[in-house]
Amino acid sequence: MIHSINGKTKVLAVIGNPIEHSLSPQIHNTLCKELGLNYVYVPFKVETAFLEEAVKGFKAAGMLGFNVTIPHKQNIMPYLDEITPEAELMEAVNTVKISEGRLIGYNTDGIGFIRSLKANDVDVKEKKVVIIGAGGASRGIAVKMALEGAAEIIILNRTLEKAQEISHVINSKIKKIAKADHMNQEILFHYANNCDIFINTTPIGMYPHENDCPIEDMNFLTENTVVCDLIYNPKKTVFLKKAEEKGCKIINGWGMLLYQAIEAFEIWTGITVNKGIIDLLYNIN
Ligand code: NAP
Repeated sequence: MIHSINGKTKVLAVIGNPIEHSLSPQIHNTLCKELGLNYVYVPFKVETAFLEEAVKGFKAAGMLGFNVTIPHKQNIMPYLDEITPEAELMEAVNTVKISEGRLIGYNTDGIGFIRSLKANDVDVKEKKVVIIGAGGASRGIAVKMALEGAAEIIILNRTLEKAQEISHVINSKIKKIAKADHMNQEILFHYANNCDIFINTTPIGMYPHENDCPIEDMNFLTENTVVCDLIYNPKKTVFLKKAEEKGCKIINGWGMLLYQAIEAFEIWTGITVNKGIIDLLYNIN
């Protein structure tokens, strides 16, 4: 429950459309409560046609900052005063800080994923990574893993051009370590049977289609591969179950969601969230 609201309460928010199912209010209001901060975090459903007005209103109202989710992660960029180089590379903003009347755009999805790997004792430095899917989430984590020193990043996707676009950004703006290809069983075997980290960024297997799996035969996996799914509902997708059967370490998307929120909260408040609170948040889902 939200702590008491009074004349000194500061406001944080998330904007998107739809927004009703967002878990961010629960995560951030728990953070505010546990840290004893007189802040409140509210969801706002904002239609694309009113995005500019909403952003101006947040600034005029003296808010600390807000999160941005689908469908506004790209649309918001022209309305900001500054965008971090990382968010520019990812071509998406999910966090805005309002500081001295300036709107500064960040992207915490990539670092959220990296922090969830670290929480599971997985480091991306010098690792060979294979990613399936080439949407917004794929771009965010692929760019961040390249910046964090991955040795090789292979992006496989149904629509080849989208995978090529991400690999081009990495190769031209960060380091020549990325490749793109089609996503099929033969190609998967070729790239993924000896990779270090294998990640599903497609929505296949997400509730209510939890019996689906993006890959039929996952026997190419060996126990040396860490297998991640960005999906967190269900907690263990068929994709992760198949990997677990092969003896792989598995990581679902809940940690990424949590850490992208914590990272945003730390940007707004300057507070480093302690491990006790992170552990508590891990269990609210
Ligand atoms: P997106 O931009 O719509 O991209 C989806 C990708 O999946 C596209 O590359 C698409 O291929 C591919 N795909 C979709 N359906 C497919 C199918 N039936 N067969 C083959 N490929 C298919 O979505 P997104 O924003 O990147 O999100 C992707 C997933 O990550 C979702 O499940 C989302 O909930 C999850 N996510 C989790 C977090 C977290 O914090 N844990 C954060 C962000 C996203 P095409 O390019 O060919 O269309």
